[in-house]
Amino acid sequence: MLIVESDRAAVEQSLGAGVLFCPGCGGELRPWGSARKRALREEGVETALVPRRSRCRSCEKTHVLLPDSCLLRRRDALVTIGKALLAKAAGDGRRVTGARLSIPPDTVRGWFRRFAAAAEELRARCWAWAHALDASLGRSHRSDRPSPTRSERSVSRWPRPPGASVRARGGDGRR
Ligand SMILES: [Zn+2]
Repeated sequence: MLIVESDRAAVEQSLGAGVLFCPGCGGELRPWGSARKRALREEGVETALVPRRSRCRSCEKTHVLLPDSCLLRRRDALVTIGKALLAKAAGDGRRVTGARLSIPPDTVRGWFRRFAAAAEELRARCWAWAHALDASLGRSHRSDRPSPTRSERSVSRWPRPPGASVRARGGDGRR
């Protein structure tokens, strides 16, 4: 599984150009059909999603390319879950939030609990990403950063959108 941008045409272009890489071995990913159809719910409205599948030219494993509008093993769109978490931060409870987003309150409660349990890990990961993308952030708080994931280490290999700039950290972005 690999999270990619939501623009299907851009993903096709990246696959064709060989600029998407295997999360397992770093090999080049090539087009390989589609993954199974799944439901994606955004504020109560359900749509069908058929993610692209790719295959690594090196290890030959296949990987589903999940659009960044989704979260792994979540039926609800990222934007919906994000709105719920913002509502929680503003003081709303699961019932009010669920009613506003047309989501069952027990589902919203599950997001709140899962996010609370993962908050520290997410904070640390965001910090690692920030350092991978911008060396000018300095070296403070480095000791509480987790080991970078393969994705974080390979961030310097990502294609950049036109006009985007990333400040290099004087190397390949590794710690
Ligand atoms: Zn591979």
